[in-house]
Amino acid sequence: MSATAWTAKAADIALDAAPLELAPLGADDVEIAVSHCGICHSDLHLVDGDWGIDYPITPGHEVVGTVTAVGSAVSGIAEGERVGVGWQCNSCGECEYCRAGDDNLCAQNQATCIGRPGGFATALRVPARFAFALPDALPSERVGPLMCGGITVFSPLRRFGAGSGKRVAVVGLGGLGHMAVQFAAALGAEVTVLSHSPDKADDAAKLGASHFVHTGTEDWNAPLMKHFDLVLNTVSAVIPINDYLATLKPHGVLCTVGAPGEPLQVSAFNLIGGERMLAGSAIGGRARIREMLEFAARHGVLPWVETLPVAEVNTALDRVRNNRARYRMVLEIAG
Ligand code: NAP
Ligand code: ZN
Repeated sequence: MSATAWTAKAADIALDAAPLELAPLGADDVEIAVSHCGICHSDLHLVDGDWGIDYPITPGHEVVGTVTAVGSAVSGIAEGERVGVGWQCNSCGECEYCRAGDDNLCAQNQATCIGRPGGFATALRVPARFAFALPDALPSERVGPLMCGGITVFSPLRRFGAGSGKRVAVVGLGGLGHMAVQFAAALGAEVTVLSHSPDKADDAAKLGASHFVHTGTEDWNAPLMKHFDLVLNTVSAVIPINDYLATLKPHGVLCTVGAPGEPLQVSAFNLIGGERMLAGSAIGGRARIREMLEFAARHGVLPWVETLPVAEVNTALDRVRNNRARYRMVLEIAG
């Protein structure tokens, strides 16, 4: 089957549309006609060469579409079903992590858009285990960003106990950050946004944050020493991480999901004092994805999106590059 894909051939070159010959449909695969695909900053890291991944790259891993074919061994998912696909599209299914439901930690995990064409395309073939039925309450133009951005923030919020009586800071009000604020507030936490963009204060409040702090001033953290139980860093660039560690209570956790190509510089004393913990988190396992989708449908957690036709993919990427998306760009690929 042939399709069309929007592909980056090198850094600093605009993505181009070209015919795509899909890989054969395996027995365990589904074929999806893509209707929408969100743009995650990870797509931009790939396109811009931040992570040193080889070209060509067809990005896209916040995919929504309709199943158009199923492999001979697939059960539980049928032609015509609306599904979503996120960052991960395969795992071994047998290792201790897969067996424990942490398929995202499998050493053989495979990304949807690395070494294979992703969702900036009219069609996608992936293992059926990583195509998720979508609740009716989540509309197609808005649900895609939950498949990567949403699970990436929901998983650490759950793992580190964000909830009633907990103070949670979300660093960076972008695609991930604005979903993190909604999830953390819905989980019952008191949410503070730490942002270098003062014009985002009103949106932070609308999303459910109780407090907004502009991090552009020298002493922004002075009133916040030993204040938070959890700091979730969603920033795509290197931040002065010690300034944020200092805002954690004893035994507090700073979890980074933001993935800049350059290292974060950590002072040992900011970890030792207060016995603080520095953690990372990678998307989420399949059971957690299902839980996240059900939670989002129940609590009305939905990304704020700006949609553009896929022909304008380079404009959409630029809006993310320039921190102008409010708050997730979504490409319309087919009606
Ligand atoms: P995004 O929409 O571009 O948002 C990033 C936010 O970071 C911006 O809105 C901005 O928020 C803040 N920011 C950007 N540059 C900054 C700078 N120089 N200094 C301070 N703050 C800055 O990106 P995203 O899609 O949410 O992705 C965020 C990061 O998460 C990326 O690195 C992405 O690769 C990573 N990610 C990781 C996983 C995982 O599994 N761990 C999954 C998905 C994405 P303010 O304007 O509010 O400051
Ligand atoms: Zn992503």
